[in-house]
Amino acid sequence: MDLIFRNVRIDDTQPLMDVAVNRGTIIAIEPRIAASAKHEIQGNGKVLIPGFVEGHLHLEKANLMQRRANRSGTLQEAIAVTAELKPTLTRADILQRATQVLRALVQSGSTHVRAHAEFDPAQGFTGLDVVLELREKLRHIIDIQVVAFPQEGILKLPGMREMMTEAMERGADVVGGIPYNDLSPLEHIDFVFDLAKRYGKDIDLHQDFADNADNMTVEYLARKTLDEGYQGRVCVGHLTSLGALEPERQAPIIRLLRDAQISVMCLPATDLHLGARGDRHNVRRALTPVRALRDGGVNVCLATNNIRNAFTPFGTGDLLDIAQLALPACHLGGADDQATVLAMLTGNPAKALGLNNHGLAPGKDADLVLLDCLAVSDIILDLPTRLMVFKRGNLVATSQCQRSIVF
Ligand SMILES: [Zn+2]
Repeated sequence: MDLIFRNVRIDDTQPLMDVAVNRGTIIAIEPRIAASAKHEIQGNGKVLIPGFVEGHLHLEKANLMQRRANRSGTLQEAIAVTAELKPTLTRADILQRATQVLRALVQSGSTHVRAHAEFDPAQGFTGLDVVLELREKLRHIIDIQVVAFPQEGILKLPGMREMMTEAMERGADVVGGIPYNDLSPLEHIDFVFDLAKRYGKDIDLHQDFADNADNMTVEYLARKTLDEGYQGRVCVGHLTSLGALEPERQAPIIRLLRDAQISVMCLPATDLHLGARGDRHNVRRALTPVRALRDGGVNVCLATNNIRNAFTPFGTGDLLDIAQLALPACHLGGADDQATVLAMLTGNPAKALGLNNHGLAPGKDADLVLLDCLAVSDIILDLPTRLMVFKRGNLVATSQCQRSIVF
């Protein structure tokens, strides 16, 4: 046996457990495992969880905030400012910033990330290629799923249809899209489905990102998902327009999302920053309705989206920061609600990304994080130090926790 964690807390309602790992896989979880292992870690009652899954992140445009400001704080200016910068970004620059972000992710306990990597005729494939390169280079440290992401639209840019196909040929894992930023959102969705079916890939769209519900296309997307037999293979990020609908109009859409098994990524850092910029007073939150989606049976996740750029000029890459932001912003702070939040960073995004080997159970990958807290329910409140992070049984990050107290 390669590794045993002794006396770790994996469930607040069960006794402390030993967790045994061999060849990168969890092979046993029992109160006392008699066998010994090459490496034994004394948990002393600390919490062990499966790695966080960052379900929606932009690596190649992270940490660009200092280069050009988004003065209005709107989505439109964020897109415009970033579009100006993109053609100036070199491979070395993108590699350096993306690596910096991935290090922060691993250090804070993420073992998987879905990266939306963008390209267009003005900037070419430099960003996508760097992210694909990092996927291979860091495979033993963090799993990266690469989404082919057309931030500037598909139909409105000559040559972009061909670039979407080329991105899949270059090795993208998922077909991305952004229906609200194109000439015809419905044709955009149709194009994405055609491409996904051709390559046998899943779909992940930036969807219905507005303060109002005027131009929603998620119902079309959900019906298309059902028609194409793509249930469980489609994710959407943002979906803030859904939050602008009154409950009577929201409910049938939520049922449709549930039936189509579409996963929803709530991106609170970006959406709170960019949303409702037109409100002069009593400013709206402009977020997707996380609780209504959850209660309606939709797989809902929390994700980072952007770090320190024109879309989100702050952030650390730590998913627990996003959870803490979501507690008040999404009204998830109530005692019953709190218990549902950790899954929005672990099991729910794992399901959204199709990670069948993720989880804390025999047979699953040993992608594990040992935390400096004693109860699972404390994780989203304590934001505990991530003491040790393991990728398929190998230690990939450690952090020290030093405390001193004078009374
Ligand atoms: Zn995004």
